[in-house]
Amino acid sequence: MSAVGLLHALKVDVVDWRGEKQLVANVDLRAGELIVGERPVAFAETRPGEEAVAPWILLETILSSEPMGAAVAAADLKLTKWPLAPEDEATLDHLGRKYKRNPKKLAQLYHRVAANNIHYRHAGVMGFGIWPVLSRSNHSCDPNARLCASSQQPLVELLLATRLIGAGDAVSWNYFSDAAFLELGWLERNRRLYRDFQFLCRCSRCEAERPEGAGGLSNADIAVFLKEGK
Ligand SMILES: [Zn+2]
Repeated sequence: MSAVGLLHALKVDVVDWRGEKQLVANVDLRAGELIVGERPVAFAETRPGEEAVAPWILLETILSSEPMGAAVAAADLKLTKWPLAPEDEATLDHLGRKYKRNPKKLAQLYHRVAANNIHYRHAGVMGFGIWPVLSRSNHSCDPNARLCASSQQPLVELLLATRLIGAGDAVSWNYFSDAAFLELGWLERNRRLYRDFQFLCRCSRCEAERPEGAGGLSNADIAVFLKEGK
């Protein structure tokens, strides 16, 4: 685990899980207990309405900032590769020429940014950033932790337990940090997760609520399934 930007993470380990990694508690955690505190390796402020293009704003900020570029390159970030839409290919093409980047490496960086960006809000300012350890904590539609901004240190995000988490349990939070998201059904939740984070949720609730036909799909087929809803 990289120590860069990590303020507090002694109570969890990053462990392999289904070919990915996740955060697992190594001690029993009480509700309200601080699990991880971390500074971002990259961040970009956004204005209301820019949420849908946030990964692109963050990507361009990283491309134009040498320290952020180096910090992101050094971070052990998850990589989820999804088929790119033609307009995404065109944007990558444009950015590749503008910042003189190898197209393949740039596409990989885009996938990393898209899979790891986290929305933040601090003192009336909002944006998106990358917190490498926190982003190893999986999303769940039945989470046992929540993310919140530190009231004292700008851009420091804190992961807090919301109920008892036993040693050995995976630590998860709702990536939308919005209770209304948890009220949605399987299809709507997974549409939003796919749109914003490029994955299909495999939390215990989604496994239980998953409709017929949504299991064992390839990445391309998942996109079609979520679009058509059948
Ligand atoms: Zn889920």
